[in-house]
Amino acid sequence: MTRPLSPERWAFEITHLLNAVFGADRFPIDIPAVAREYTAQRFPDDPIISVQGDNLPGFDGALFKAPAGRKGWGIIYNNRISSKGRINFTLAHEFGHFLLHRIAYPNGFRCGEQDVVRWDSEYGQVEHQANLFAANFLMPLDDFRRQIPERDKVDLDMIAHCADRYRVSLIAATLRWLSYTQKRAVLVVSRDGFILWARSSPSALKTGAFFRTSAGPIEIPATSLPVKQDLLIDGRATIDHGPGVWFREPVREMTVFAEQYDFAISLLLLDDARPFASFEAEDEPDVFDKMILQPGRREW
Ligand SMILES: [Zn+2]
Repeated sequence: MTRPLSPERWAFEITHLLNAVFGADRFPIDIPAVAREYTAQRFPDDPIISVQGDNLPGFDGALFKAPAGRKGWGIIYNNRISSKGRINFTLAHEFGHFLLHRIAYPNGFRCGEQDVVRWDSEYGQVEHQANLFAANFLMPLDDFRRQIPERDKVDLDMIAHCADRYRVSLIAATLRWLSYTQKRAVLVVSRDGFILWARSSPSALKTGAFFRTSAGPIEIPATSLPVKQDLLIDGRATIDHGPGVWFREPVREMTVFAEQYDFAISLLLLDDARPFASFEAEDEPDVFDKMILQPGRREW
């Protein structure tokens, strides 16, 4: 038996194939078509035969075995979800379960919102792997780097352009950018004045710019945009803060309210690291310990 491929390796294999067939400018990916056609070629005895929306209360998506007498698998997404980006990520997530997990989990999967949203966490190894596949498959790094080179400054419009290009949520595109940029940046998702979760780019993390929400709720600064909503125009704004607001150093904050105005997404940009930058915390943060979402409704 051959060694199973990693999530990244599966995504790379399919990316390579799609690049060869459609060229580099081929986004967004038609996930149902790719899932059906790729698996029909690669696994003719066990392909994905349907991808469709349905009433799926309490779940974002599911991977299920075809009814008795038919071979293959189906993917269902919850058609009550209005966000195309979220549906796309869910479809790619279920495709990931098919590639990675269908042998070990012959009864398939039903994935709730948390399974799909907490895609960079150690929330659960199986869910994490499906999300890793989805992020790599939907937003290949070589293409993302062409849109925003790793040393380039960003603004939310540039990331929103990528979210459109890959047809994913703004949060998913931001997380992908944070994973490779050399800039110091922190994504903060907040609601009602408190950080729900936050994620730092590697260079921000190394220089102490992070929030540890696993230790309890963190209140956001009184002068930050999610608090001062009267400063927002069309649900978004940019503001330059002096030292001592978000961190001990100055921060450019760009905030946008999520589609359903349920929570705020703030991107904090810091200057490039200086040696001996002041540290906010003494111990090493747990990188993946930040995706603690509060119970209740979350729309992204
Ligand atoms: Zn799942």
